[in-house]
Amino acid sequence: MDLLNTLVDKGLRREVPTRDEALAVLATSDDELLDVVAAAGKVRRTWFGRRVKLNYLVNLKSGLCPEDCSYCSQRLGSKAEILKYTWLKPDDASKAAAAGVAGGAKRVCLVASGRGPTDKDVDRVSETIATIKEQNEGVEVCACLGLLNDGQAERLRAAGADAYNHNLNTSEATYGDICTTHDFSDRVETVQQAQAAGMSACSGLIAGMGETDADLVDVVFALRELDPDSVPVNFLIPFEGTPLAKEWNLTPQRCLRILAMVRFVCPDVEVRLAGGREVHLRSMQPLALHLVNSIFLGDYLTSEGQAGKDDLAMIADAGFEVEGTDTTTLPAHRRDTADATEPADAAAPADTDAESATVPAPSEETRRDLVAVRRRGAGTDLPPNA
Ligand code: SF4
Repeated sequence: MDLLNTLVDKGLRREVPTRDEALAVLATSDDELLDVVAAAGKVRRTWFGRRVKLNYLVNLKSGLCPEDCSYCSQRLGSKAEILKYTWLKPDDASKAAAAGVAGGAKRVCLVASGRGPTDKDVDRVSETIATIKEQNEGVEVCACLGLLNDGQAERLRAAGADAYNHNLNTSEATYGDICTTHDFSDRVETVQQAQAAGMSACSGLIAGMGETDADLVDVVFALRELDPDSVPVNFLIPFEGTPLAKEWNLTPQRCLRILAMVRFVCPDVEVRLAGGREVHLRSMQPLALHLVNSIFLGDYLTSEGQAGKDDLAMIADAGFEVEGTDTTTLPAHRRDTADATEPADAAAPADTDAESATVPAPSEETRRDLVAVRRRGAGTDLPPNA
């Protein structure tokens, strides 16, 4: 298939595909799926070998957010019956983080609900970062606290945060459909503040919110332009009690096509399989390891993932290996120098049929029973899943 040969060649040269090529990946048929996975897998192996980086989420503060992101179970007015609690104490957060590290995670992601931190919150999180680093040697810490004000990124960096996560989530054109309390440019600005403060930027997307193929390509190209070091790809978990509860749009095959497209557009970046993998990829999860080089271990912020030991068994069974703390995730050219990749071809015309096509609903039965609200780990008396 000419398209796939072209995309592999470009991926190995770190060259950006055209928008039409990215759209064409999303439009491939199920008969072509294994060829697509094999092609994107070649790019993945070139830059990351067979390594899988494990990341572990600690929800520092859960629920009761004043923002209205419609995909989120913690949003304003959410009726989802999730755990709700205020800031974890540094020791409790560190204990949760230690469970993830013991399970093989090399990065801990400290997340708090809310529009953004107050200066007092930054103090609190700084103390938590110090405690975690003291008690877990060599661990990378990523903070995810929402929109940042001036000076907060620098303070988090000085406190030891290695990375900052803030997702773009969807295309700029449709951002207003999923959130009205902040906009796309706010999110871009926070990612840029994190980068300017010297933190590794982590920014990704959520697929399955009713977006078009063009939206998906737009957000991935916007991410390439922003140039984060890691790109988490979430698949919407349609929580009951949120506005997107009825958005069951994804099939395992579509998830794999989306991941392949992200890999082709961001060939040498840590592409991380994030929330929703158990719900939407189901038994096809191992194939996704050929596309991504990073996953979350165990549970998510407000929902439960598969058992941590099953994640590890899946990685081993699929012929991959957990990345150790002695290995640097990113290829040398991304670590050592300002990125030498070419700018995203964001100005390419957007006029194909696939561009405007909406995603057909999946024909097979959806598996709503796989959505399990988190009832263990941080904020509970039960041990965490790692
Ligand atoms: S700001 Fe964060 S926690 Fe709040 S509703 Fe949006 S995604 Fe959820």
